[in-house]
Amino acid sequence: TDPALIRNFCIIAHIDHGKSTLADRMLQITGVVDDRSMRAQYLDRMDIERERGITIKSQAVRLPWDGHVLNMIDTPGHVDFTYEVSRSLQACEGAILLVDAAQGIEAQTLANLYLAMNADLHIIPVLNKIDLPAAQPEKFAEELAGLIGCEPSDVLRVSGKTGEGVRELLDHVVASVPAPVGKADAAARALIFDSVYDTYRGVVTYVRVIDGHLSKRERILMMSTSATHETLEIGVISPEPKPSELGLGVGEVGYLITGVKDVRQSRVGDTVTSAAKPAGEMLAGYEHPKPMVFSGLYPIDGDEYPELREALDKLQLNDAALVYEPETSAALGFGFRVGFLGLLHMEIVRERLEREFGLSLISTAPNVVYRVIMEDGSEHTVTNPSEFPSGGKIAQVFEPVTKSTILAPAEFIGAIMEICQGRRGQLKGMDYLSEDRVEIRYELPLGEIIFDFFDQLKSRTRGYASLDYEPAGEAEADLVKVDILLQGEAVDAFSAIVHKDKAYGYGVDMAKKLRELIPRQQFEVPIQAAIGARVIARENIRAIRKDVLAKCYGGDISRKRKLLEKQKEGKKRMKMVGRVEVPQEAFVAALSTD
Ligand code: GDP
Ligand code: MG
Repeated sequence: TDPALIRNFCIIAHIDHGKSTLADRMLQITGVVDDRSMRAQYLDRMDIERERGITIKSQAVRLPWDGHVLNMIDTPGHVDFTYEVSRSLQACEGAILLVDAAQGIEAQTLANLYLAMNADLHIIPVLNKIDLPAAQPEKFAEELAGLIGCEPSDVLRVSGKTGEGVRELLDHVVASVPAPVGKADAAARALIFDSVYDTYRGVVTYVRVIDGHLSKRERILMMSTSATHETLEIGVISPEPKPSELGLGVGEVGYLITGVKDVRQSRVGDTVTSAAKPAGEMLAGYEHPKPMVFSGLYPIDGDEYPELREALDKLQLNDAALVYEPETSAALGFGFRVGFLGLLHMEIVRERLEREFGLSLISTAPNVVYRVIMEDGSEHTVTNPSEFPSGGKIAQVFEPVTKSTILAPAEFIGAIMEICQGRRGQLKGMDYLSEDRVEIRYELPLGEIIFDFFDQLKSRTRGYASLDYEPAGEAEADLVKVDILLQGEAVDAFSAIVHKDKAYGYGVDMAKKLRELIPRQQFEVPIQAAIGARVIARENIRAIRKDVLAKCYGGDISRKRKLLEKQKEGKKRMKMVGRVEVPQEAFVAALSTD
């Protein structure tokens, strides 16, 4: 295709403002999906996306429109997937900034707008959901125009639900988004912006061609690894993969398949070039995202450890933000310490591992990364609370902090400040976006955000507040490690690093929780919470003689047998901590954050 006829754009917005629904209408209106095959949020292909109603992965689709080729990328809106969005932006020249006409600007509207501006994209402001009775297009057109510095009349209005205004929007994309520029006769250079492992076809690599041309049956070179492969298939997504005999030229977005099964051969951010005529210089790749939250992941069935490793390898290909290394826990056995971008990312990874790879997993409470400086000047990076040095030789502890932005109606300012103050937040500033909407900026420790902060915020503001945060370095804090001991033995999976003022509360809660979760044993089991050698809370599980059969009066043999079977099954899922039998569920329940 002539690059002058190509328009590459993405749709960015706060979560739930209607990106995927708008993408649906575009698929339909351009005839790429016929009415019969249409289903809501067509591009959310993963089961987990469909069930949760959220987009996790960006999806690129080629749409024919008015003699032009539009490559549209639908993106996720949640803060954890900012990395996914910023990659998509690099494959585009324009962005549709979508705002719900009944909600107005929210935290990720701002965050995504700044990303798009940094990537030098042409921005098209659009109000969505104008079919809603509660829509206030006049008001929010003004808000949006004020934000990006245009006239309220420049703000387009659409309904992704009814399709109103979508044709005009597509015309506007053609007229206003710049065509891609690249050197057609130069050596090929294409940026890998995503790749996926497919059981049948091996690795599928998604690329945006910058210069030159990639063809079928060509030897290609992955520039960062120097590996060469032959392209078995090359094509475009519209909306399913469509092989193309012509290959991909300047400005085009598509996929290639080399038959490679090794997931590490196709790295997101790498440059693909031709092996016969390689380019001199790689394209600027992506800054590698830094994992912010760590948790231990263990197979419930210890035999599944190799499967877990393989599953993580495969998932990592599709999720460049995922990092992991092996770890052992006295309580949980062999597993991995896994780094995530945030809590939602953590939930999603765990769920994908369980569903796509059939694993049963247990995860430890999430924690952030701490830097501990000892009195002798030595330094430790702690990604696992049980590695936090105990003993009094600690000089300083640093924790990661965030620049957090909360957008909400002005009536909730008091409630929001109270929550943030209670979590060691420092107010950095406040601005009114309009007379009744305010943007509040805080510096907040990341460790405080990852524990139910968002839930608290939502419930105290009746769902009206939205939150965005970005890393903002580290700060010194008064942090201690609290250990939980069963019969005098520390259970590594329950150790936590908490602020000194909250250590007692954590210890008491945990001890109480465990007393309820761990069944009585043949002997008494003391549960203690301790900071170093100092015990700060204590509970007792009283001894019983556990004789299930005593429950069946009389001679119903089959019932007795059933009970025994059940008990045996329960046994399988027990972990031993010293002499204490702890059911798997107790770990799971105690480790869940609420
Ligand atoms: P995304 O998170 O930005 O991709 O948002 P979705 O496309 O998944 O939409 C979120 C919710 O808003 C869904 O329940 C949609 O049905 C609804 N929605 C999206 N667009 C419109 C619209 O134009 N009008 C109305 N009334 N609802 C919409
Ligand atoms: Mg979506």
